[in-house]
Amino acid sequence: MDNIRRGNKQLIKELNRAIVINTILNYGPISRTRISEFTDLGLSTVSNIVADLIKKELIYETGEEESSGGRRAILLEFNCNDRFVLGIKIGLDGIIIGLVNMKSKILDQHFIPSPVKSSEKIVLEVLIKAIRDLINKNHIIAEKIVGCGIGVSGLVNQKEGILVFSKILGWKKIRFKEFLEKEFNFPIFIDKDVNALTLAEKRFGVGKKINNFICITIGKGVGAGIVIKGDIYHGSYGGAGDFGHIIIDKDGPLCYCGKRGCLETFSSDQFIINKIKEALSNQQDTIIKDFLKKKEDLDSISVDMVLKAAQKGDIISKNIFQEVGKNLAMGIVSLISLFDPELIVVGGEGVKAGELIFPTMRKVVRDNFPFKKEIKIVFLQPGEEGWIIGAAELVLSEIFKTPIFKSKGKVAIKSAFRW
Ligand SMILES: [Zn+2]
Repeated sequence: MDNIRRGNKQLIKELNRAIVINTILNYGPISRTRISEFTDLGLSTVSNIVADLIKKELIYETGEEESSGGRRAILLEFNCNDRFVLGIKIGLDGIIIGLVNMKSKILDQHFIPSPVKSSEKIVLEVLIKAIRDLINKNHIIAEKIVGCGIGVSGLVNQKEGILVFSKILGWKKIRFKEFLEKEFNFPIFIDKDVNALTLAEKRFGVGKKINNFICITIGKGVGAGIVIKGDIYHGSYGGAGDFGHIIIDKDGPLCYCGKRGCLETFSSDQFIINKIKEALSNQQDTIIKDFLKKKEDLDSISVDMVLKAAQKGDIISKNIFQEVGKNLAMGIVSLISLFDPELIVVGGEGVKAGELIFPTMRKVVRDNFPFKKEIKIVFLQPGEEGWIIGAAELVLSEIFKTPIFKSKGKVAIKSAFRW
């Protein structure tokens, strides 16, 4: 699917086509004349490309341009609902899947609980069924799906579409791309879930006009997507942004990754649960015990319970969230020292407890940089939408990619999709 096409005439044709498609997508409704002015392509070239795109139902004519006199130009708009993208996030609790149109609007979404730490075979089976069900339910023919993006926690080999390993999910070497492309006739893209979310923020969200920023996710795990000069930084082997596993206490508790004192052991959901259990076994005064069906039923404690207790004024629970804020801030201070970002974005399911975590987090970060211009820290709304749009963006950013210009006069378009 990954075609690198070279050659003069054909290449220029495809380049021009990509430019026209991008212009209509981003600036439509727009007239042929305006496209020509915008892109420096001749009007006849634009008109030829447009005619073909209309024939293929990728664009359509819609109304006329406002004009003070003379002939009114017909406007063109991208047909966003003729083709679709699937966006999937695979998490510890299950799979979030969404059907997305070409302008990144979610048309349908579902959550499929999957058995935690299932085998590779079961995960892929669940995934295939989820994709089929979504396509069938929305009465879409598979040819109209231009691709599927998958965000997953772990080390990802993007090019090969392999999840190399994921400690948190307990998986090793799952060949998502190879396997799913055998089942479906559309390309599969995969990246770390936090990178997908970061991509969504870069394209549509708070990072839209910012070239250097970091998007952190908190909750079951802790991760970071790093944007440098407008692009996601993946590192040499896809492992960049493993923020949860920077060591903040060399004598700290053992982390599931094998190291000691990782930031995640001081800030994830498990930390919160461990802390409240510790408080209960030390007979500390917390209303959490009123939420338990049986006094000794400590395994039923969830982060939501601790959050509820804190919101009801439970001091012990409130303090735990503040501690999370403080610990995360220590990690963020290191990120700021390393990358000097313009903005820090915080997302992930952990933002549900934002009102309890963020004031401390902000204060600690600011206290550590008294001489620095204020670092913007913004928080995303909790929800599944960002993950879906981000995963879909893994496909859309490829499809609408600006062609790559190579040095020494050679040019190549790298595209996974042929319009
Ligand atoms: Zn670790």
